[in-house]
Amino acid sequence: MEKYRGLSPAQFFHRNKEIAGFSNPARALYQTVRELVENSLDATETHGILPDISVEISLDPSNQDKVTVKVADNGIGIPIHEIPNVFGRVFYGSKYVVRQTRGVFGLGVKMAVLYAQMTTAQPIYVKSAPRNSEFIGEYLLYIDVDKNIPHIVKMRIKKKDNPKIHGTVVRLTLEGSWLQAKKRIEEYIRRTALIAPYATIKYKTPDEELIFRRVSKKLPEPPRIGRYHPKGVDVEILKELIRSLNDHSITLQDFLVKSFEGVGEKIASEFIVWAGFDPSLKVKELRLSDLEALASKMRTFDKWRRPRPVTLSPIGEELLKDGVKNILKPSFVKAVTRPPSSYGGHPFIVEVAVAYGGEIPPQDQPMVLRFANKMPLLYDEGVDVSRKVVNEIDWSVYKVKFPAPLAVITHVCSTKIPFKGVGKEAIADVPELEHELEIAIREAARRLRSYITRMERLHEIQRKEAT
Ligand code: ADP
Ligand code: MG
Repeated sequence: MEKYRGLSPAQFFHRNKEIAGFSNPARALYQTVRELVENSLDATETHGILPDISVEISLDPSNQDKVTVKVADNGIGIPIHEIPNVFGRVFYGSKYVVRQTRGVFGLGVKMAVLYAQMTTAQPIYVKSAPRNSEFIGEYLLYIDVDKNIPHIVKMRIKKKDNPKIHGTVVRLTLEGSWLQAKKRIEEYIRRTALIAPYATIKYKTPDEELIFRRVSKKLPEPPRIGRYHPKGVDVEILKELIRSLNDHSITLQDFLVKSFEGVGEKIASEFIVWAGFDPSLKVKELRLSDLEALASKMRTFDKWRRPRPVTLSPIGEELLKDGVKNILKPSFVKAVTRPPSSYGGHPFIVEVAVAYGGEIPPQDQPMVLRFANKMPLLYDEGVDVSRKVVNEIDWSVYKVKFPAPLAVITHVCSTKIPFKGVGKEAIADVPELEHELEIAIREAARRLRSYITRMERLHEIQRKEAT
């Protein structure tokens, strides 16, 4: 006889931790650092705060496989009553909105908590001082995996000494392989410093202490929370939006204009006529079959305006150049930020830098440094769209002869990055994205060609003068 039962989200990820990047002790340590750092960056720059982040990794003296990771930030903090859920409940967070952030799933830090409690049986420590609050909350908690709810071991609330301070400290201990992970983790931190040159990151490990000081105090314009674009809707999104309306008399016309991105009065009327709906129809009265027709018509109508990029926060050519210069120390760099584009109703912006010479080691193929929503992507390069585009370019057109000291830096910003998995390591080859990447890389590469030509001439002159 078969026995039937359900599985809680926490149980699911407990069983399938590999799909979130926690496949072995080295990878789990890397992923833990990554999830904590990314939350810290989201909590700062998304809210207009220049990030000050400290990352500390230490080993248990009696067992080197027990690794403690501590990350502290000066971010907006977490409302004290929300702390248990954001750290103790899989699929809980503040980023389920249309806005560019590193986090999207409401999963990352819970994976780290789960992995820590699975391997060392230790709870997570969180201390948070929310902005605009007089208090600081401190918790020790773990996840009740069966129920997918937080289990609080200890909590304490105290008054802030200085009402102006804000930020969060997270500390947890997991079974990890520091020896195997340290190179990747250091590389991850270096690349984070490259893409966020306005951040100061302190990095302390059993082997070294590094400080990546900000090279710029310019913060990119933070992303704003936007609305869905009609091209990206489905029946469930429509249901959710209609459910959230308080006004029962709202018409289809008003609904389209008020609830969606890229829809003005005129386009809304045009759409309604084209789709054969009655403009005075009350959306609260739509039946399921109407919603299905509406969603499908909305996706196929081709006159919507493109989504505006206010929900995005690219870093811009200047900061990208600063970051590349500071970390890679090349002799040439050209950065290109493309105008906004979109795929399936999701806005995106591609930024690219091509760097050459200097301290970049010569390699048989271009080095590719990939970023998505300001997150460095280190794994699964072989299946990523950026690698594909870079490989398809004939670099001899740009006078590059391999082995060459060439690095291509790609940054994709979107409210919906088409990742291939929840571990967020590789971006799928969406045609629109591929196209933008290619245009951007070629534009930067043309400048590289001029630079190489200039250098060749210079050498030629020097050679002649020498003889
Ligand atoms: P995600 O980042 O995808 O939303 P996480 O599980 O990593 O999911 O985090 C859950 C939520 O916890 C976040 O949405 C955020 O609201 C909050 N959070 C986590 N870490 C921090 C932090 N350092 N500062 C402020 N808020 C945080
Ligand atoms: Mg996160």
